[in-house]
Amino acid sequence: MIRAFVGLGSNLGDPRAQLAQAFAALERIPQTRVAARSALYRSAPIGSSGQPDFLNAVALLETTLSAQALLGALQAIERAQRRERPYPNAPRTLDLDLLLYGSEHIDTPGLQVPHPRMHARAFVLAPLLELDPELTVPGRGRAHDLLAACASQTVSREPA
Ligand code: ADP
Ligand code: MG
Repeated sequence: MIRAFVGLGSNLGDPRAQLAQAFAALERIPQTRVAARSALYRSAPIGSSGQPDFLNAVALLETTLSAQALLGALQAIERAQRRERPYPNAPRTLDLDLLLYGSEHIDTPGLQVPHPRMHARAFVLAPLLELDPELTVPGRGRAHDLLAACASQTVSREPA
């Protein structure tokens, strides 16, 4: 059984409903259990102005799927919620990222774990720390310290 963390994000098409639907879909991934989920966090979009705010969250999964199979399941959920990718950093109905897969390092063309940008994103680190305050990102250090280095990024926890 591997502990895997998945990042969820949405800024189109009723983000709160998109994330609720995505959490329900995570529950249906075979050989996988949703062990915990964070609150929702609101953040301003990166790299593109004039877009709606994002809502983000993190789920802790316990799985016996391979990392590649888990990514496939996440991408199927993205497709089911009709994600489109017209250009980089475009608004999206749903983004699912495999953040961590145990303490494994994976570097293949279609899958890099730890997720290559997670250590610099407050909207990932804040919900991760809620689920595991002692978390270390392999190769990057303590999530607590990484979040402190993202102080310029505004992220706020949504009321329940
Ligand atoms: P981002 O999540 O950085 O905004 P995208 O979701 O558009 O970017 O990127 C999707 C691509 O990233 C997919 O083609 C997928 O194969 C690749 N990818 C590599 N590593 C990961 C990972 N850990 N989690 C999710 N997608 C990944
Ligand atoms: Mg992604």
